[in-house]
Amino acid sequence: MEKLVSLCRRRGFLFQSSEIYGGLNGFWDYGPLGVELKRNVKEAWWRDMVSAHDDLATLPGAPSPYEMTGLDCTIIMHPQVWKVSGHFDLFADKMQTCRQCKKLVRADHVADMTRDAEWAQSFAACCFVPKPDGTMSFNSAEAISWAKTRKLGRKLAPGLALVRDPEVTMSWLAEDIENESVTPATLTLPLVLSYMATAQKNETGLQTPCPHCGGDLTEPRDFNLMFESHAGALQSDENKVFLRPETAQGIFVNFKNVIDSSRVKVPVGIAQIGKSFRNEITPRNFTFRSREFEQMEIEFFCHPSQSADWYKFWRDRRMKWWQEIGLAGERLILRDHHADELSHYSTGTADIEYAFPFLPEGEYGELEGIAHRGDFDLRSHMEGKLDPNSCPLEVQKGEDGKPLHKGSGRDLTYRDDITNERFTPHVIEPSAGADRGTLALLCEAYHEDTAPDDKGKEQTRVVMKFHPRIAPIKAAVFPLVKKDGMPEVAQDLYRALKKKFPAFYDEKGAVGRRYRRQDEAGTPYCITVDGQTLQDQTVTMRDRDTLEQVRLKLDDVVAEVERRVTGE
Ligand code: ATP
Repeated sequence: MEKLVSLCRRRGFLFQSSEIYGGLNGFWDYGPLGVELKRNVKEAWWRDMVSAHDDLATLPGAPSPYEMTGLDCTIIMHPQVWKVSGHFDLFADKMQTCRQCKKLVRADHVADMTRDAEWAQSFAACCFVPKPDGTMSFNSAEAISWAKTRKLGRKLAPGLALVRDPEVTMSWLAEDIENESVTPATLTLPLVLSYMATAQKNETGLQTPCPHCGGDLTEPRDFNLMFESHAGALQSDENKVFLRPETAQGIFVNFKNVIDSSRVKVPVGIAQIGKSFRNEITPRNFTFRSREFEQMEIEFFCHPSQSADWYKFWRDRRMKWWQEIGLAGERLILRDHHADELSHYSTGTADIEYAFPFLPEGEYGELEGIAHRGDFDLRSHMEGKLDPNSCPLEVQKGEDGKPLHKGSGRDLTYRDDITNERFTPHVIEPSAGADRGTLALLCEAYHEDTAPDDKGKEQTRVVMKFHPRIAPIKAAVFPLVKKDGMPEVAQDLYRALKKKFPAFYDEKGAVGRRYRRQDEAGTPYCITVDGQTLQDQTVTMRDRDTLEQVRLKLDDVVAEVERRVTGE
């Protein structure tokens, strides 16, 4: 992963936002190559899902033909949208604060972060000693010595109770071993670490250590993830607005507008790509968990009797799409949620997940969620915030017995003009992250192999094997040497290619070095104009992955690159 991160910076895929001021945690800028890559992901999604969708045919697995259309809504919406959607009350993570370093940590991230923390790894390496039977035993004398050492405990975990007061802290564990409430054989690292974070066990019980400094964490508390701002001159509560944490709600509140203003009919999908904002407490793992990111969401409205079939269709269609644009390997999986994870109004939810290299072996991170949402969202925006735990669904009441958050009161039902039936459509929601998708494609593309240099000697090369459709630059053109009319021919070809797609012209340095630069950028085709070109109007085209070089007519290059890029 470190190699990929450094390549991304060096070659201009991704930079940390405001880097010259030390960076802003959780915000990322896409550089010259990154912007093309991410645009290609979004454009492929929009084209495949919306603009090129064939609404006359029944796609494999679909119950019937369906229509697709798009929207582009504002980031700031009426605050009632977020009250009714549940984000205002529920869009919260449980947070813990460190009493020593004051940092906030997401409760469900603490265990993983502590496992990966430098101080915990150093502690484990010093204090857990392998036994001949293959198990590990904890050595308390080593732990005290680790805590007192300037370059170890005192530097790495200054907040840890063991470091602040080694003997007293260690006494709690010794006492529990003595009274046999724990046995040395059952001392795992997480259990030992909670003893080491406990200054006064009788008063507080065992403490959870802070992943940053080892200090002790408070009980988990709710923390709302929505960024706030004010619309208008007054910074008052009445003017408070939120930056959207998802693009989906803009689609729900415009459902009626779309149906009334266009000729689309249910079943119909409404798509939107746009920025979303979440004040994530522990943004990490590169762009995987950012505070500002882009989503590609579809709300698919259908008749309730067909919603289970549409859910299956969308789940499989979305999985196939990620495979088609380059995540074809085993690192991509489709994980169906268990029945007990589902809300009672939903017949299914599945996540498309990728084995990101920063995750431990066997773990996957979500790229996209596909959820059957029933009529929960449209009904909430009509009637008022529904209580997701009620069955059948009812409007959630406040202490005064009135609706907790009032709906719009607008009729968001749909009338089928053939059957005359009026119903509230059910919704299937495929919700994908453009940044997580781009990151997965970067991870999947990264390869190291060998290729011959100008002298025919095998050299290691870094090559980004992007699917040609996604690659930031589709073709590079090189004159073999900067003379004999070769640059002029190459420049004309470059201009012709550029009319169709991003291309690159390079005449600097040895040709092998130029190939290497394009391999790192993931350019699938490099075309070289050489001495023979001037005689017979042919050029060589090198394939990034196979390194195969073919000779083709200068006049055929644009069409050939286009054929290969579009696969048509
Ligand atoms: P997680 O559990 O990882 O926080 P989520 O289940 O809350 O994700 P959704 O609300 O379902 O995510 O959002 C849909 C998609 O938006 C996710 O699959 C992901 O690709 C993307 N996404 C969500 N949060 C972030 C984030 N903080 N940074 C980047 N992408 C995100």
